[in-house]
Amino acid sequence: MSSISAPRGVRDILPDESWKWEYVFKVTRDTARDFGYREVHLPVFEHTELFSRGVGETTDVVEKEMYTFDDRAGRSLTLRPELSASMVRSYLENRMDKLHQPAKLWSAGPMFRYERPQKGRYRQFWQIDFEAIGSQDPYVDVESIAVSLEIFRKLGLANLEVVVNSVGCPVCRPVHKEALQSFLKSKLGDLCETCKGRFNRNPLRILDCKNPVCREITEEAPDTISCLCAECSEHFSAVRLGLDRIGAAVSVDKRLVRGLDYYTKTAYEVLSGDLGAQNAVCGGGRYDNLAESIGGPHTPGVGFAAGVERIVLTMEQQGRSFGEPPVLDAYVVSPDPSSRDESVALLYEIRRSGIAADIDYMGRSFKAQFKTAGGSGAVFACVLGPDEIATGSVTVKNLETGEQHQLARAELSSFIIEFKSAKVKKQEGNLL
Ligand code: AMP
Repeated sequence: MSSISAPRGVRDILPDESWKWEYVFKVTRDTARDFGYREVHLPVFEHTELFSRGVGETTDVVEKEMYTFDDRAGRSLTLRPELSASMVRSYLENRMDKLHQPAKLWSAGPMFRYERPQKGRYRQFWQIDFEAIGSQDPYVDVESIAVSLEIFRKLGLANLEVVVNSVGCPVCRPVHKEALQSFLKSKLGDLCETCKGRFNRNPLRILDCKNPVCREITEEAPDTISCLCAECSEHFSAVRLGLDRIGAAVSVDKRLVRGLDYYTKTAYEVLSGDLGAQNAVCGGGRYDNLAESIGGPHTPGVGFAAGVERIVLTMEQQGRSFGEPPVLDAYVVSPDPSSRDESVALLYEIRRSGIAADIDYMGRSFKAQFKTAGGSGAVFACVLGPDEIATGSVTVKNLETGEQHQLARAELSSFIIEFKSAKVKKQEGNLL
């Protein structure tokens, strides 16, 4: 029988990498707390309609990329391709409008899109998502951008470019759409096949096509900013001023339009200079009509999502620190089978005192147990043989220095704990 591998485009995040993800989540969680965002766990699948209506029927995500299936009762469900629609659904369903506004919420988890896999682009990928729902204040847009930049600053990411644009609203977007279509009409034959298809359905997306011919054609095309209505124009100025006030280095990219239909006014992206083709680490913006499109009352909102795989890739490429990988403090070594039961008792004794410890389960020789102890990253090997049992002691070997001595068994835990805290103090001292 042939063996079963994981489906195309999905990855196992193995222990050598998962501890790095923990670090990214810790920094995210701390930053969320500092900015007053609270965590929500959202379902991995939703009614398909949430995305077709919320994200937009003519978007690539809805047209080509969703994992949609019927459940056993014949309901059409979809594995979430993104989180904003789910977060707004949750806000409406749980009457979060009754809470202090805006409701500042964050979430993290896997998303699913049927895309062509390549480096930094997967069919299951993780996002960190922040949403502020219930306010149209431009300073909320500023704060949303600021949270993402603060997370990246704490993670040590460098070589980032932050670009903003305003994509307008239902008042000014049709004006831009018309201007764009009349500009492109005579050039339609020269556009790439994808953009030809976009011309009627979603011409805005032609502006951010990466095809060099399309880029050249749209060089002089009317941009969204030149068509903004007074309200959107004022809002965009306020956002730029606000970003300036908080010292955020951003530039305006008039071509930035984003792939999801629900964006209104502010759109932004953070790009990494070290990622190659899939260079966006984070994207977001305002979506004042999303709530209405899924059947709720008009509710403004703004948010962003950052890709965890791409954050980790960028950090690795830039040699950033992920803190210390988790290692054991101690490894219990049993020199002969007669002392094994007592060694296991010792293992649980020290674990109960808060010491990370392990033992051999493979019947390894005394020597091989030491080798495993060394490979486990534990600082101490704690040897409990017949001699130690007879004298109520443990032989402790520091695997880093080779130093070895005998301790009363009752003192073992406090010895290791004191050693650990002295080490932490020394590390903190070195940092000062
Ligand atoms: P979006 O929801 O398309 O605005 O994407 C937000 C962020 O999620 C992007 O900036 C990427 O960092 C990440 N992302 C989007 N699609 C993928 C994918 N297929 N694989 C990995 N990361 C992705």
